[in-house]
Amino acid sequence: MKQRSIGLYLHIPFCQHKCSYCDFYSIVTLDGMERFVQALCEEIRFRSQQFGSDAEVRSIFWGGGTPSLLSIAQTEQVSRVLTDSFYVAADVEWTIEANPGTVTLEKLYAYRMIGINRISFGVQSFDEGELNFLERIHSPHQAEHAVEMARRAGFDNINVDIMYALPGQSITTCLASLKRACALEPEHISAYSLVYEPATPLYHKLQRGEIVPLTDDVEAEFFLQTTSFLAEQGYQQYEVSNFARPGKECRHNLLYWHRGEYLGFGPSAHSHWDNTRWSNIRSVARYVELLARRQFPVAMTEHLTVEQQRSEAVFLALRADGIELATLESLYNCSTTTGPVAAVIADWQRQGLATCDGRRLCLNPSGYSLCDALTLELLNVLEHATTEAAVL
Ligand code: SF4
Repeated sequence: MKQRSIGLYLHIPFCQHKCSYCDFYSIVTLDGMERFVQALCEEIRFRSQQFGSDAEVRSIFWGGGTPSLLSIAQTEQVSRVLTDSFYVAADVEWTIEANPGTVTLEKLYAYRMIGINRISFGVQSFDEGELNFLERIHSPHQAEHAVEMARRAGFDNINVDIMYALPGQSITTCLASLKRACALEPEHISAYSLVYEPATPLYHKLQRGEIVPLTDDVEAEFFLQTTSFLAEQGYQQYEVSNFARPGKECRHNLLYWHRGEYLGFGPSAHSHWDNTRWSNIRSVARYVELLARRQFPVAMTEHLTVEQQRSEAVFLALRADGIELATLESLYNCSTTTGPVAAVIADWQRQGLATCDGRRLCLNPSGYSLCDALTLELLNVLEHATTEAAVL
């Protein structure tokens, strides 16, 4: 019996083309892929010697970048190193992110043979104009075809990513994309609002006044329409941007939001272990170089203080499936049935922002749309309550 349940994240930092909004670390020069794969295998082996002995892997997530750009042979090689190095649970959830423009039926069959049992397609939109604006490499038809091929290859756990609140987008075109996504009957839908990340081409366009973003009110309206449409279609919201058929919530995502432990491999990948977080460097070249010298490619390490651990627990739980009142009480040494914390909870319920059954506090769609502000409000009251308890 292993002591810890963990997740593994692999960052595959290559893309065929850089999308206009994306700030994930990836490069479009593909000739270093083979050297990268060897370095990645090396990092997995090193880390397994350090952390693998008492850990059971319950989820694996290949993200990026574009993991589906790896050849079948490269995907098989990395998978073999993973399963040889770590104890992987028989019912592991094993996800690969795929760009609809880069998959073939042969590749999808190979994924299933390897043991990959969940696939996440970065569709973003079914509108040709919106896809061009986002500089995606696929067409709406390719996205539908990719999902159909995945079904044929035997995937019964499929996610489709959709992006909304694009400049000039109307609720009608947004809902049209969601309808086409639902028609494919994916088990899971991630619906994100467009974020203008600094240093992306889209951000520069915004700075130059070439695009006009939606107002906060309109964006909030998109969010509420999206959540109510997906609820009507039988998708349960279990995080601000994530919706699933019952029982099909992403185990790996939940691990992050429940502050579980995970190891990240590849440039820019993050890890969380024993209340320490670290991230890898954001350079493929340097990553390969360091691993060739048998050095860990770590850029930053942070040991979390008790205050950081508990505020993280509240912040992450509120944006996901809620927090137990008993957990709040023990983290902050406070009451949740009387006093200021109880008052905040009651106020949220009165305003229709949250539900609380006496055991667990969960935000509802209106609450999710104000998640950051509500988290801040609760944390302020909790910190105050703790200080007062300490003084008494
Ligand atoms: S394919 Fe994904 S990772 Fe690559 S640039 Fe586009 S959004 Fe970013």
